[in-house]
Amino acid sequence: MSLEVFVLGTSGMQPLPGRFLTSAMVRREGELFLFDCGEGTQVSLKMLNLHWKRINRIFISHMHADHVTGLPGLLMLSSQVDRSEPLYIYGPEKLKDYIDANRRLLDMYINYEIKFVKTEPGIVLETDQYSVEAVPLLHTKPCMGYVMKEKDRPGEFNVEKAKELNIPCGPMWGRLQKGQDIELEDGTVVHPEQVLGPQRHGVKFSYITDTMYMGHIARHVQDSDLLLCEGMFSRDLSQDANEKKHMTSTQAAMIARDSNSKKLGLIHYSPRYTDKELQILKEEACEVFENTVLCKDRYSFVLNNPD
Ligand SMILES: [Zn+2]
Ligand SMILES: [Zn+2]
Repeated sequence: MSLEVFVLGTSGMQPLPGRFLTSAMVRREGELFLFDCGEGTQVSLKMLNLHWKRINRIFISHMHADHVTGLPGLLMLSSQVDRSEPLYIYGPEKLKDYIDANRRLLDMYINYEIKFVKTEPGIVLETDQYSVEAVPLLHTKPCMGYVMKEKDRPGEFNVEKAKELNIPCGPMWGRLQKGQDIELEDGTVVHPEQVLGPQRHGVKFSYITDTMYMGHIARHVQDSDLLLCEGMFSRDLSQDANEKKHMTSTQAAMIARDSNSKKLGLIHYSPRYTDKELQILKEEACEVFENTVLCKDRYSFVLNNPD
């Protein structure tokens, strides 16, 4: 049970040399999930040798240029590959118009299906292994954060123990693995906990940008293994952050602390800060939440839950 998170870009508003626009990718069991797609996303994918052809789902937070201008290029590239599975794109209503207009104006020939899903707050995708929830944010345009959570799985099946209890190999093993009681021929009832190790907890990844600070965000991202969160400004610009409906790194840290998250990765920095000046964002965040990482482009994280 693990997933990898690749930070593809960390800049807000404007791409800078060495700092592309905010975007992140999750790799899980061979599936790729892209969160936002600003200018430069493709370059980071290339540098990380991530196979964009295998992107299964794209989640867009909102319709500001710094989060969507990389999308036409990515779709154009994808049109040149053979692909049988559809590409799912999640986002606000206007995103569909944007994609359709780009396809028309740029004469994109796309030989696979693009399935657009308008995001509403709540679960937007659920499989038997994980779910993705859209979290309503408060920005100058309709905006959603996304939370990807793996489902907990039963503990490991102890073969030795099963043999010891004379449980015949076959469907009974499967039922125990699914957490069901079974009855042996002699009438003995075996409970799953007799042959299963402790439950294995899924990991949780949260992606929150762009928004002003709101207390309810912490509830949605509760117990994240990694919270990627905008920390656009330093504390002295709190007023600016508020007016522009963005957050300071201190506010991002408050969300990490209040949600009991394990790690905070700061992203979406104001282009006003040089790389050196970004340190202040980290220092201020660390005063509130110690396990803060000042993400740089192409940082990656492995989220693993040993239990
Ligand atoms: Zn932005
Ligand atoms: Zn924005």
